[in-house]
Amino acid sequence: MNIINNLDLIKDNIPSNVILVAVSKTKPNTDILTAYNAGQKIFGENKVQELVQKQKELPHDIKWHMIGHLQRNKVKYIAPFVNLIHAVDSIRLLQEINKRAAENNRTIDCLLQIHIATEKTKFGFDINEIENTIKKANSFTNINIKGLMGMATFTKNQVQINTEFKKIHKLFKIVKTKMLDTLSIGMSNDYKLAINHGSTMVRIGSDIFGKRQEI
Ligand SMILES: *Cc1c(COP(=O)(O)O)cnc(C)c1O
Repeated sequence: MNIINNLDLIKDNIPSNVILVAVSKTKPNTDILTAYNAGQKIFGENKVQELVQKQKELPHDIKWHMIGHLQRNKVKYIAPFVNLIHAVDSIRLLQEINKRAAENNRTIDCLLQIHIATEKTKFGFDINEIENTIKKANSFTNINIKGLMGMATFTKNQVQINTEFKKIHKLFKIVKTKMLDTLSIGMSNDYKLAINHGSTMVRIGSDIFGKRQEI
């Protein structure tokens, strides 16, 4: 597994306007530093404790993205430094992020997660509630809603993934503005498909760092 080669390969495969989030969950700091020294500055983690620990130990110009499901009682730990929260799935969570951002004299960028998968276990707003949610979210003074995030169903069925990405792309085109310009879709297995559906930000882990030992 050559992290630098993998990064180069992916960069060749994504247009220059698409932002690459290197998903480093479960991977050691040494792997992150290898990517960092090759120029990668944006990393994504899905667990608060791991994210906080790595942020302390690694170079401070890294932009840390929280990509996983976020519990309200943990927002305070990442509020001082987090660069983008991908998976905001409730107004109550937004309220908490807004409060903790204000305590830190910050404005925190957020994406609203849209439920596009057929799996009930995945989180996110319903497509039909999103315009209303954006209106409510824009009333928070210490939050910037930068866009939408989605996760397709975990399947090899490309037709299904295609349908799900199509749904979020259509919604994105409706709500897109100069400020709300980010569509975070695409992971190792489906990022090329996601880019065909307007992705502006891909979250890639195993194609860079190798397979994870999932627990
Ligand atoms: C783990 C994870 C990814 C990256 O998955 P890979 O298949 O390893 O690329 C992307 N997004 C989220 C939300 C994740 O939890």
